[in-house]
Amino acid sequence: MNGMLILPDWLIIDALQKPKKKWGIRISGNMITDVDSNDQLREKFKDDEVLEAPGKVLSPGFVNAHTHIYGVLAHGIPLDKAPSGFWPFLEDFWWPLVENQLDQEMICVATDLRCADMLKSGVTSFFDCTEAPFALPGCLAAQRERVLGSGMRGILSFEATERISTKNGELGLKENADFIDTCNQEGGLVSGLMCIHTTFTCSPDFIRTAFGMASDRNVLLQAHVSEGTYEPEYTSSKYGLKPIQFYDSLGVAGPGLLASQCVHLDEAEIQIISEKGIRVSHQPLSNCEVGGGIAPIPQLSALDITMGLGSDGYIDDFFEVMRGAFLIHKAYHQDPGVMPAHVVWHLATEGGARALDLEKVGRLEPGWKADLQLIDGNLPTLLSEHNLFEQMLLYRNANDVSMVMVDGVIRVRDYEVLDVDRAFLLSRTRSAAERLWSAKK
Ligand SMILES: [Zn+2]
Repeated sequence: MNGMLILPDWLIIDALQKPKKKWGIRISGNMITDVDSNDQLREKFKDDEVLEAPGKVLSPGFVNAHTHIYGVLAHGIPLDKAPSGFWPFLEDFWWPLVENQLDQEMICVATDLRCADMLKSGVTSFFDCTEAPFALPGCLAAQRERVLGSGMRGILSFEATERISTKNGELGLKENADFIDTCNQEGGLVSGLMCIHTTFTCSPDFIRTAFGMASDRNVLLQAHVSEGTYEPEYTSSKYGLKPIQFYDSLGVAGPGLLASQCVHLDEAEIQIISEKGIRVSHQPLSNCEVGGGIAPIPQLSALDITMGLGSDGYIDDFFEVMRGAFLIHKAYHQDPGVMPAHVVWHLATEGGARALDLEKVGRLEPGWKADLQLIDGNLPTLLSEHNLFEQMLLYRNANDVSMVMVDGVIRVRDYEVLDVDRAFLLSRTRSAAERLWSAKK
C-alpha cells in the first residue's frame, strides 16, 4: 500500500526529545509507519506521494484536554456588574445566564464553529463538557453528529450535577451512559466519558454512582476540582476533608479520575494525586478569567503526573493557551526557569492525550496515529534544536498552522479549514448568541 511522506524542515517526534532537522515521517492509512531523515525517506519510499513542507515544523496535533464548546456563545455577554469572585461568577452569571439558557441548537451551532477553530489552531483532539440542564436528553447525540462531520477526535460529555435537582442530575448521568454505549457500538473518532461537576453540586452517593457507571464502561470520570477557594472551604467544613481527600474517601481517587483545574491543592492532596495516579488538566487562561488563582502545575509536573492543557472554552487559540501555561507560573514563582517551553508543548500534545486516555495519540512515532500539524517556521530569527519549542510557542498563532491531519485525513490545507464556510458559521453563531443573551430578560 502506497503511503504519504511529509518532509518538513523540522520534526517534533515528541516534546521531551530534541527536534530533528530535515527529518520527516511516512504515513499509511491513519498510522505513522516510519520516521527518518527526509533524504532516507525519499530513498526508501520512491513510489509514495510526497508532501514537501519547506520552512515548516511538523508537530503532533494539539490535544485540548478541557473545553466547554458552548462557552463561545457567552463571549462578551453584557452583565449588570462584573462577578466579584468565583462563587458569584457561577451563581450570578454562568449558571443562570449561560448554562440554564442553552438548547441543543445553540450547542450544535457552537460545536460547528469551535471544531473549525480548534482545527485551525492545530488541535486534533479535544474533551468537551456540556452543562445545559434544560437541553436534556439527547444533546450529546446531536453534538456527536457535528463533531463527526468535522473529522476531529472528540470526547464529549455532559456535566451532570444535582444543582437543579437530583432527578436532573440523574438525567445527566444517563445522558453520558447512553452516549458512551452508542459510541462503543458505532465506533468512529467520537467517544464519551462520565462527567460530573464538583463536590459542592454533587452528593457523595451521586459521585459514587457516576464513578461506578464510568468503571462499568471502562471510561474516565471527570470532575472540576478546586477551581476557586470555594470548593476546598466547602468540603473542609462539610466533610472535614479537602476535595481530593474527599474523592479518595469515596474510593474514586485513581487513574480513573480526571481532575480538571486543580488550582487550590494542599500538599496532602498533591501526594494523593501522585500516589494514586489521578489525571489532571490545567486551564491557565480561564483560571485567570474567573479570578481562580494559579495552579501548582510546576510542582505537579515535577512529580510526573499525567497532565494535559485545556482552553476551558475561553480563549481557544491553543498557542495562547500554551503561552498562558508558559508565562503565569514564571511570574508567580518569580523564576524564568519554571515551565520551559518543551514541558508546555508536552502538556499540549502527548500529556493531554494521556490525560484523556487516548491511545497512541500525541507523538509522531511508528505505530502512532497520524494526528499532526505543520506550522510555519519563518521567524525573524533562526530556529535551532535548542530554541525551537520556545520560538514556536511564543511567536506563532493559529494563523501560522498551514496543515492539520486527523487520523490520516487532511482537515486543514494551505492555512484553510477544508469544507467549512467560516463566514456562515460565524453568522449562525452570532444569531445563537443573540438568542442566548436575550433569553435572560
Ligand atoms: Zn471547565
